[in-house]
Amino acid sequence: MSEEKIIDGKKISLMIKEEIKKDVLKLKEKGIIPTLAVVIVGENPASKVYVRNKKKGCEEVGINSLSYELKEETTEEELLNLVKELNEREDVNGILVQLPLPKHIDENKVILSINPEKDVDCFHPYNVGLVSTGNEGFLPCTPAGIIELIKRSGFEIAGKNCVVIGRSNIVGKPAAMLLLKENGTVTVCHSKTKNLSEICKTADIIVVATGKRNTLTPDMIKEGVIIIDVGMNRDENNKLCGDVDFNGCYPLAKAITPVPGGVGPMTIAMLLNNCIIKLRKFL
Ligand code: NDP
Repeated sequence: MSEEKIIDGKKISLMIKEEIKKDVLKLKEKGIIPTLAVVIVGENPASKVYVRNKKKGCEEVGINSLSYELKEETTEEELLNLVKELNEREDVNGILVQLPLPKHIDENKVILSINPEKDVDCFHPYNVGLVSTGNEGFLPCTPAGIIELIKRSGFEIAGKNCVVIGRSNIVGKPAAMLLLKENGTVTVCHSKTKNLSEICKTADIIVVATGKRNTLTPDMIKEGVIIIDVGMNRDENNKLCGDVDFNGCYPLAKAITPVPGGVGPMTIAMLLNNCIIKLRKFL
């Protein structure tokens, strides 16, 4: 397999982290210490891994991270009180509450309680609105990672037919918004889409974020397409795999992201970027 064709998310994320590291250093020289508060409630094993990786990412680039590991039985009120305290702390410039939360806590209420100025996940409707209106501000992490992967690999988005499969608030919808901001011609598909294959065949760029293995197969694509696979699934051997039939699509694609090593590392890099995005004005 030619390395040229594979979009190396690990390598690109390292480049971005190096850039962040330099900016963090300059901020520290000016007496500004970027600080992210990471809150996790309960024992969800996947969430614990994500939180550990996010804290490790902070360490790598010199961002200070504060850790709040709350018990599963934490009440909604207790969590909201903690968020309020973090909202008010001047030394904390980013707040991340790891989702999903235990069933007895209303996730929406918690997202709404985070000060939009500290919402590094870019989940607050205020920040979602800024993204949708094409304004400056926090960037949705996974979608921003997708844009960086495409651009830093030297591909143009403007004027290209972009198809996004998936319309979640975390990936599909904001990815469509960012591609639109880059002047792509964007089609969003989902589980009720009738002619997915025909739509995908028109695409120059396809982003797949369904959480379903083999959503995209070679019979659905045209030659020369750029494929971004967001999915994280397990195959029958418990090996991590994406939403795309990688081996099938690889020969036809101009470029394709692997799983793992594609979008995954970019999400954390873009989270770290959000931790300093509002501080860059002090550089
Ligand atoms: P959701 O389950 O929230 O959304 C899935 C979307 O895919 C829905 O809009 C659904 O349509 C659509 N869909 C499902 N099946 C099909 C199908 N057969 N054809 C067309 N559309 C379909 O998932 P997320 O967006 O949160 O995540 C998607 C994947 O990306 C998951 O594997 C997740 O683990 C991964 N992920 C990876 C990240 C990373 O950093 N690498 C970060 C976030 C997610 P409908 O709306 O009609 O139900």
